[in-house]
Amino acid sequence: MSDTKMNTNEFLKQFPERLKHIEKVCKVYPMQISEYYLKLIKNKDDPIWKQCIPDIREIEDEVNEEDPLLEEQYTPVPGLIHRYPDRALLLANNKCAMYCRFCTRKRKVGKDITITKNMIIGALQYISKHKEIRDVIVSGGDPLMMSDDGLEFILRSLREIKHVEIIRIGTRVPGVIPSRITSTLCNMMKKYHPIYINLHFEHPMEITEESKKACNMLADSGFPLGSQTVLLKGINDNEEVMKELFQKLMAMRIKPYYLYQADMVKGTEHFRTPVTKGLEIIKSLQGHTSGLAIPQYIIDTPGGGKIPLIPDYIKFKNNEKIIMENFENKIVEYYEPKSSGRKKNNKFKIAVVFNLKKQSEKNKPEDYYAEFDNIEVPIAIQKALIKLTDNVDLLESDNNLFEKLKKGKYNFVFNIAEGLLGESRESHVPAILEMLGIPYSGSGVCTQAITLDKRRKKEILGFHNIPTPRFQIMNSPIEKLSQHLTYPLFVKPNCEGSSKGIRNNSIVHNKDELMKVVMKIIEVYNQPALIEEFLPGREFTVSILGNNPPVVLPIVEIKFDYLPSGINNIDSYEVKWYWDNPKTAKKAVQCPAKIDEKLEKQIKNIALKTYSALGCVDFTRMDLRLDAHGIPNVIDVNALPGLMPDPKENSRFPKSCYTLGMTFEEIIYKILFSAMERYGLLEKYNFPSEKVKCFVKIKTERL
Ligand SMILES: *Cc1c(COP(=O)(O)O)cnc(C)c1O
Ligand code: SF4
Repeated sequence: MSDTKMNTNEFLKQFPERLKHIEKVCKVYPMQISEYYLKLIKNKDDPIWKQCIPDIREIEDEVNEEDPLLEEQYTPVPGLIHRYPDRALLLANNKCAMYCRFCTRKRKVGKDITITKNMIIGALQYISKHKEIRDVIVSGGDPLMMSDDGLEFILRSLREIKHVEIIRIGTRVPGVIPSRITSTLCNMMKKYHPIYINLHFEHPMEITEESKKACNMLADSGFPLGSQTVLLKGINDNEEVMKELFQKLMAMRIKPYYLYQADMVKGTEHFRTPVTKGLEIIKSLQGHTSGLAIPQYIIDTPGGGKIPLIPDYIKFKNNEKIIMENFENKIVEYYEPKSSGRKKNNKFKIAVVFNLKKQSEKNKPEDYYAEFDNIEVPIAIQKALIKLTDNVDLLESDNNLFEKLKKGKYNFVFNIAEGLLGESRESHVPAILEMLGIPYSGSGVCTQAITLDKRRKKEILGFHNIPTPRFQIMNSPIEKLSQHLTYPLFVKPNCEGSSKGIRNNSIVHNKDELMKVVMKIIEVYNQPALIEEFLPGREFTVSILGNNPPVVLPIVEIKFDYLPSGINNIDSYEVKWYWDNPKTAKKAVQCPAKIDEKLEKQIKNIALKTYSALGCVDFTRMDLRLDAHGIPNVIDVNALPGLMPDPKENSRFPKSCYTLGMTFEEIIYKILFSAMERYGLLEKYNFPSEKVKCFVKIKTERL
């Protein structure tokens, strides 16, 4: 041991700038490093260094407790922790092969707390008196730091207790002093089988020829090997490092057993990571490597013991089925057995078809997935539909959609899919459904295609004398500006929704600015730019629901007066997805809008005319803005408005419905029944009458 100290001191002399701090910390938390482990250090502050060399932050920690797990509370006799019903932890000695800087028992390690033979005998007596203990973990300190004889005394005594079935040894020795694993030791321990050995590896750098050999001897002696790892900031809080570690352990016949969230132990604050990090690591492993290489992720809670944490795979669950997200973020379903109360109604089978938001990818604009939905939206729709029928499937509109629809034999589709690719993408799902002869909710192929193409939409509005700002299409930044247009102008991509490509700088005041924005749109969105005259007046969103007749819902005004100066008064991407958030929600939109009767009538008229001119059905949302003369102009129409269920999200179509006193469920029924009525299907299925009633009610209570 004095040899070891010498080596450590020699080694540390190479880092004179650290010596003062190290000495200061050692007075509170001693240092001890094995000669072997010290040699594993390749560089200052590498993962090995950080585990064994004192750091000044250890004595600066004012957050944590000395004994956060309240182990002392579960110590009925000295040297024994009895926390769980059928197992107990025997503290065999207080010596360790080295003092890990992050140790949970930092308060004891290296201190003059001796564990006497009498203490051990007392603990053994406790175990023999408690018949419920069938599993004893011999720990410490480190039991393999005892003499062979000392350890054998404990193992033999435990084996004499009939109700102790399993003995486990917890040790870091094979990774820290591998030469301690001798054939004499193995042969001695073997006599007391079944013995499990739980090792302790933190980093792939600890896996060497020496530690491999030691573990091999243990495995050959028949001890099942497991390993515990503590998640440590700056050491192994990294998906690649963990994967390498666990895979290498597997190759050594060691099963990764637990991955521990760092305990809240005084002196270790600088090692702690957020819990999300651990979940991310587990998620990155599950499915991507063998399940055998994945430990259970555990928080040892103050007073509450070990609690396993699992990434959130379950998205929805009732007594019929469970909807999950797999390791590739695919949505999958599993049905409960019929006997568990699932009743089959084969009469009406419906699918909700949607596109899921993904993390934006490299080489794609950050708003690439802005139109798509979070899984909460289809799930909320499903929750509503499940009250009508047992058969509600969620289908992601990927490029297997056609096959999925064909196989599913659906009677109906509730469509909210924005489409994957191309300038007519919103019309793709309707087109597929028509091809398969499946009726669906929402506007049809032609309307979806036209409403996504702002130029065609405006051409039709013009034909019907519906006011819309004057415009021009530019396929290149050097095209000449039409003499009908005067600055300031509003520039946006021709075929995008959800304010995609509409930025704070979309209002331009001169040729230079115009060319810049046009160029950017062509480059990023790969489509022509639409140049419109900019309207200076108030902005409104109008939602229409139903067909026969369509009902204009309470009008929403988009407010801009809460925005900081420098942010243009337009419904840009920044405003919609950043400034308009749950905190500002009350200021960002007002519903019903405060407008006089005349303007309200004017807006409603224009909205209904637009709905019919474009051939919209079931539900649609449109944006109008007042021009310099106060005339409402249609600036955009969205035949697939967002249906976010959470009122805090300020999703504008639901907002109008909520103002009317409708619930989210009623919105879904109203859309569905409007569509089914169009197909003449409403009477065919026996829907619960109270659900249909809400449909009739809103139909007759016309505004
Ligand atoms: C971790 C621990 C055990 C063993 O728990 P398992 O989940 O069975 O591995 C037993 N006692 C105490 C006090 C512990 O902290
Ligand atoms: S070997 Fe275990 S008990 Fe000993 S210092 Fe390291 S973590 Fe703590």
